[in-house]
Amino acid sequence: MLTAASAVAGLILPPGGMALAQAASTASPATQGGASGNVGYYRFRVGDIAATVLSDGLIGGPPQIYASTAPEAELEEVLRQAFLPTDHLALNLNTLLIETNGRRILLEAGAGQTMGPQGGRLFDNLAAIGLRPEDIDVVVVSHTHPDHVGNLRTADGGRAFPRATVFAPRADWDFFIRSDPDLSYMPVPEDFRRHFATAIRQSLEPVMGEVELYEAGTEIVPGLTTLPALGHTPGMANFLVHSGNDQLLLTADLAYHPIVNIDHAWLPGPDRDKETALASRRRIFDMAAADRLPVLGFHFPFPGLGYMLKTDSGYAWVPANWQF
Ligand SMILES: [Zn+2]
Repeated sequence: MLTAASAVAGLILPPGGMALAQAASTASPATQGGASGNVGYYRFRVGDIAATVLSDGLIGGPPQIYASTAPEAELEEVLRQAFLPTDHLALNLNTLLIETNGRRILLEAGAGQTMGPQGGRLFDNLAAIGLRPEDIDVVVVSHTHPDHVGNLRTADGGRAFPRATVFAPRADWDFFIRSDPDLSYMPVPEDFRRHFATAIRQSLEPVMGEVELYEAGTEIVPGLTTLPALGHTPGMANFLVHSGNDQLLLTADLAYHPIVNIDHAWLPGPDRDKETALASRRRIFDMAAADRLPVLGFHFPFPGLGYMLKTDSGYAWVPANWQF
């Protein structure tokens, strides 16, 4: 059974919330590993489009949060068989940079340190490929949860990507920003919900005046189409990057971790409307499997690329081979 204390500890929330989390961000997480650290970027192509997964690091929490319908003993056994800890599920933050028609477009902004001290590596990984935040022309977020918008704000409250036009789904903006969101559906303690809502507001505050709100289903720029994937949040989109005959599907938070949401079809606790989210998941996973699409999972083990296989009982995640 998930207790309030274990949830807070597992989500690595500092007791002081945002203030402490931001103070911690003065350290540079990507350099903390020193010479023993690994790279956090991965380059590939989608037709004529150059694509680079840029890791923002990790978040995570008690596995039951992400697999809310799993019987406790079965979940533990599945995690043990996957050689994963049974008390904490680590989730990656795989943002994707695409470069097309002279523009640099970042898909998802990442968490920064809004959800714990292991996020916030994006800027070091951008620097590792020779880019600065001002080189980003467009940022598109699939939904406005803190782990997707956290890096939009600098530690002193400014715009982290000073030249970028930021696109966010309109229905999420209406729910999280224009109203006082009721987050009682989230299987986390009340103080976590408050922190979560505040982190969304604070992260988006610097772009409040000029954000571009989109309806899922529209094309943002040639080669980047959004697909409705509602349920996790009121407006969540998926992304289809396409060039010539090549495509890449980004599934945002349809699944958190392949082991618990694909290989086993347990429902993510943070899905606001679980039936709608389930229908979105099936529709998009079916498309990915039928069309043999390369898929990028935002929270999947880095770099998060692979394929969706249809099985007799559901789906299986097949990681892609590493490319040099
Ligand atoms: Zn997420």
